[in-house]
Amino acid sequence: MAERIPETLYKKLSERLHFYEDLGVRLFYKDRGAPHALSIATPAAESFEALLSQPISSEAVALPKSIRNPEISKATQPAPRALPTQVAQTAPRVAYQPEPLPVPAAPSLFEAFGKVPDDTLLKIRTDLGECTRCKLHTTRNKIVFGDGNPKAELVFVGEGPGHDEDMQGLPFVGRAGKLLTQMIEAMGLQRKDVYICNVVKCRPPENRAPEKDEVEQCSPFLLRQIDAIAPKVIVCLGSTAAQTVLETNRGISQFRGQWLEFRGRKLMATYHPAYLLRNPSAKSEVWKDLQKVMAVLGLEVKKGKSAEAGKSS
Ligand code: URA
Repeated sequence: MAERIPETLYKKLSERLHFYEDLGVRLFYKDRGAPHALSIATPAAESFEALLSQPISSEAVALPKSIRNPEISKATQPAPRALPTQVAQTAPRVAYQPEPLPVPAAPSLFEAFGKVPDDTLLKIRTDLGECTRCKLHTTRNKIVFGDGNPKAELVFVGEGPGHDEDMQGLPFVGRAGKLLTQMIEAMGLQRKDVYICNVVKCRPPENRAPEKDEVEQCSPFLLRQIDAIAPKVIVCLGSTAAQTVLETNRGISQFRGQWLEFRGRKLMATYHPAYLLRNPSAKSEVWKDLQKVMAVLGLEVKKGKSAEAGKSS
């Protein structure tokens, strides 16, 4: 019979594995049992990868710092988690089961923020005005409010504008944006069919992650946008969006690809397109997430469709 690992060593190993998991590094221990770690390659997933592997023009766009460092926002590093005592004492070799996402006991930031009756994107934009609520206004060029169909069934939420977005006043128009556009098209949609916005509406200098006070000032507008659009599905792109909307410090890799609920709507967190530019092997995971979204929206997953689209462009 195999020897038991000493409890202290087991705890250390477990903490280290959680740390790697939070960094998005899971390949070398993916058989630990976390449901999202199991990946089944489907033809559709491969073809999506083929589509998205086409080169994206390399105009210089700095990637947000939080994304450069796999999917972890500096401002929102996960707090160290204790190993459940029962597991530590009785079953050292049992696979780690992630705890469910915390449900806030008190009204959350967003729930406390009441719904604005008959709200519209226009009213929200008017209320935002030439915003000076946080320090980002001192360095921004243009406010990037959001773009797309005000009645969209699908809303994508990113982190915050980068250089190109700041110059144009439109979300996701740089390198990562081009990849997002390809992802939307691979789903059988066009950008004008969906709505795209960010947690913060002004570019953080040097593409750093948005800071807590900036997120706190700006996120009520994001909430109002989501409420006004009333989409069927919200897709959070990357840690900052997911952690902000879900009010959690947990690493995105722990809940990516799972259906969650946000104020009565279906929410899926997936990797940020900028992360995919640096880690193309994660594209198939994102495609699997988007296929789940497509199923809910009644969009047909056509085998090989995205590969053909990739060849023709
Ligand atoms: N990254 C984001 O998170 N949002 C954008 O609008 C562009 C890049």
